[in-house]
Amino acid sequence: MLTLFRNAEVYAPEPLGRQEVLVIGSQVAAVAESIDLQGAPLEVVDGDGLWLLPGFVDPLTHPAGGGGEGGFGNRTAEIDAKDFIRAGVTTPICALGTDSIGRSLDVLYGNVMGLRANGLDARMLSGSYRVPAPTLTGDVARDLVLVEPVIGVGEVAIADHRSSQPTVEEMRRLAADVRLGGILSGKRGTVLIHVGGGESGLGLLEDALQDSDLPRWLFYPTHVNRNEALLGQAITFAQAGGYIDITVSTTDEFIEAGEVPALAALERAVESGAPPDRITFSSDAGGSLPLFKDGVLVGLQAAGPDSLLELLNEAIRERPLAIESVIAALTRNPAHAFGLESKGQIAIGADADLLLLDPHGGQLEAVFCGGRRL
Ligand code: ZN
Repeated sequence: MLTLFRNAEVYAPEPLGRQEVLVIGSQVAAVAESIDLQGAPLEVVDGDGLWLLPGFVDPLTHPAGGGGEGGFGNRTAEIDAKDFIRAGVTTPICALGTDSIGRSLDVLYGNVMGLRANGLDARMLSGSYRVPAPTLTGDVARDLVLVEPVIGVGEVAIADHRSSQPTVEEMRRLAADVRLGGILSGKRGTVLIHVGGGESGLGLLEDALQDSDLPRWLFYPTHVNRNEALLGQAITFAQAGGYIDITVSTTDEFIEAGEVPALAALERAVESGAPPDRITFSSDAGGSLPLFKDGVLVGLQAAGPDSLLELLNEAIRERPLAIESVIAALTRNPAHAFGLESKGQIAIGADADLLLLDPHGGQLEAVFCGGRRL
């Protein structure tokens, strides 16, 4: 199957201007100003007036639902494949969260395979908030080696009253298991870290890295825009070579409580010298947005995957100069953070996960994953 995208402005994520993109099967085969196939049978997709972008790689989603911080009554719902497709997320990274008792990795695996059956290239994380981490096979390293969709562990909670208060040694052991599983399986192996609002911030990660042989990129902290102090620590973490993830879903109450809005957080990080290729955006889709006062739950909403597309449109309207770094943070950077090297870019040999976006109206005109129109 040959598909030729014509006349679109290509963001690979770097802006390439008007290019033709040839897809053969599931991969990008050529990117050039003009591609002459001399009568070969192909489907032509006209992108006149549109942008062609890589599909979003969303580093943290909860398709099995989340929540439950206020008891069974406020569990959040499962997320359907169509919600990811409409939001342009072609690779959701799927995780458990606070609740790994009322929800399990077996169920999450079913969600991931269901998303795949509907055309998405979903991946999953073993573990949950808790340490020792729940697993599918009884062992974190075995999960990475034996279960194909598993690419890491997370989100493991630190600096949060909901976390299991892991020690430095426990974090090192967990990271070492993920490292071993990654090496043996040929995957990157990543520990996604939920960072709460506790004062220790990234301190536990820095302590775990100090005087150890663990590479910094093993730890991938998310929610780093939760407050100014944490964002400052995250900028230092990125300057030292780590990846950091900014949560896009938010509420007015979160902003009032000191959260830095996603685009502002990206700008702040880049201005402060964090390498732009180390910064990512996630939706936290399906996760709850709980509001605590003095440790007591006083409100809860559910996040959706559409926040990423809304963020891109906000950037197009209000931050056109930052557009390249915003698209990179939605595509290539999270792909690299998880070692998914064929994802998040429009380049020869890359997976043909592609979005056609109307940059004026803000809506997606088409979504392709692995060369298939969804
Ligand atoms: Zn989290």
